[in-house]
Amino acid sequence: MPVRVAIGMGTNVGDRLATIEAALWTLDEADEIAVADVSGVWETAPWGGVDQASYLNAVALADTTLSPHALLADLQATEAAFGRDRPREVRWGPRTLDLDILLYGDLELAEDDLVIPHPRLVERAFVLVPLLEVLPGGTLPDGTRLTAAMTALAPVEGIDLHVRLADHPGRRHLQRPDGPSGGAAWLAADGDGRGDGRGDGRGASEV
Ligand code: AMP
Repeated sequence: MPVRVAIGMGTNVGDRLATIEAALWTLDEADEIAVADVSGVWETAPWGGVDQASYLNAVALADTTLSPHALLADLQATEAAFGRDRPREVRWGPRTLDLDILLYGDLELAEDDLVIPHPRLVERAFVLVPLLEVLPGGTLPDGTRLTAAMTALAPVEGIDLHVRLADHPGRRHLQRPDGPSGGAAWLAADGDGRGDGRGDGRGASEV
């Protein structure tokens, strides 16, 4: 049975929006991963004190038959395909593509190389804000409501809506090249009633 997962995406090098878009359909193309929904793309201030460009962040929901570690390996292979060179990079420094497993069903896991839910999930507005868009009534495996985690984080600063992919004129790039498209389901997601009127350019700090 597929498991519903939340994947955090971030980039601050090159054509950031194109990277987010291409990463989404690269994930969706894997046989074992089907992207179900995607948040807006948020422009966020860099974290961690390294002088660098701002990030674009988004969260994708997907269904996968991969185990947690196989999913991590797939995400890391995708990062590498987008030019990420882990051994050379600075902690908290610039990166072409960062993909994290935020949630994997209601699994809790604490291993050396993989911690789920992602340990920084509740500490970062750039994760929680887009995650709440795709899981508005969501809870963590321990029962904590995402809205409660968000309240605990306030004030939320340094994060502004960049683009809703469903509204983006370049969204044709998101279509899988080979067909009417596995991508269509998530591209259409903003029109399914979940869109909440926040697609008006207001930043999270104003919500
Ligand atoms: P990062 O630099 O943010 O991509 O993370 C570096 C390391 O975090 C990776 O080598 C992973 O083994 C580890 N890690 C632990 N938990 C997670 C998770 N939930 N998702 C992605 N990476 C994780």
